[in-house]
Amino acid sequence: MTTRAGLRPYNFSAGPAAMPEAVLQRAASEMLDWHGSGMSVMEMSHRGKEFGQIATQAEADLRTLLAVPENFHILFMQGGGLGENAIAPLNLSRGTVADFVITGSWSIKSQKEAQRYCETRIVASNVSGKHTSLPEAASWKLSDDASYVHLCSNETINGIEFHELPDLAALGSKAPLVIDFSSHVASRPVDWRRVGLAFGGAQKNLGPAGLTIVVVRDDLLGHALEICPSAFNYKTVADNQSMYNTPPTWGIYMAGLTFQWLLQQTEGEATGIAAMELRNIAKAKLLYDFVDTSALYENRLAADCRSRMNVPFFLRDESRNEAFLAGAREAGLLQLKGHKSVGGMRASIYNAMPLEGVQALVTYMREFERSHA
Ligand SMILES: *Cc1c(COP(=O)(O)O)cnc(C)c1O
Repeated sequence: MTTRAGLRPYNFSAGPAAMPEAVLQRAASEMLDWHGSGMSVMEMSHRGKEFGQIATQAEADLRTLLAVPENFHILFMQGGGLGENAIAPLNLSRGTVADFVITGSWSIKSQKEAQRYCETRIVASNVSGKHTSLPEAASWKLSDDASYVHLCSNETINGIEFHELPDLAALGSKAPLVIDFSSHVASRPVDWRRVGLAFGGAQKNLGPAGLTIVVVRDDLLGHALEICPSAFNYKTVADNQSMYNTPPTWGIYMAGLTFQWLLQQTEGEATGIAAMELRNIAKAKLLYDFVDTSALYENRLAADCRSRMNVPFFLRDESRNEAFLAGAREAGLLQLKGHKSVGGMRASIYNAMPLEGVQALVTYMREFERSHA
């Protein structure tokens, strides 16, 4: 990797994604012997006191980090975002109706999966605009009798993000809001007054694949369908402190190290999530501003809903895509190829991506533009 001798390349993968280098180093140093226990975390009983300590700390740190209120449970599960697309309706739908706001690939998948367990209603959709803007909340046709309303708060593939969650009560719905926050969890604060349940796979912004985070308000527990697998019943998981069955111990440990790293981050006066949000705003602005003023690159999304985490962009001359990607790899900028359903490029700039990584990307893009003018 020519331009960053001795340093690791910058990794723009959409997920599994880059992790903070300090976290990887800490894990490496503890790999063979965790805190004098004589064991790797991977070798510990999930019911032993060592792992108990790791899991308790991780949960407490996540609660602090995301300012999760007392009346919400934090669950460490498996099955990923796609698993939750089934697990959420199995637990919340009561076999009745659920409303879906369709904004891109992931919310479409969620609705398709949920309709196996309940009636689903598409109450808003941006499909006619090819998922390039968000449907105005005031126009949503919310049901009177929905058991919940689902939306994907950051559409990883399409690159659009809800910068404000809807206030369902103000829109006339009594249903709890379910959000899939897989790809922007911990990048910004969550307004828990507007949320009943949030789920996300860890592999975008928190840790390795295999861990799923669920944050659920306590009144939503205990309504699972009879057919819901016990290991996926939120109440069973909550009653057993996420240890009804063996939890993804390595994922919890790695995410726990990431939570500690996040809590320590500062930007001026801001710390933790507030600091990350400032940093993420600055990173995204740098990249979007450059793309918007360039003659070679373009972003096709409405300005008010552009994701801070996943930035799709195109070369106006697509015949240069391969050269762009090859040059990027040379420059130590990895995994920039766009998702196959959208094409072009995508830079995922999650929490672990420093501002310097985005600066390096913009420098490369400017250089490529100049040399191909
Ligand atoms: C990556 C992603 C998923 C998929 O999660 P899996 O862990 O692969 O099941 C779901 N939703 C969103 C928004 C994602 O970004």
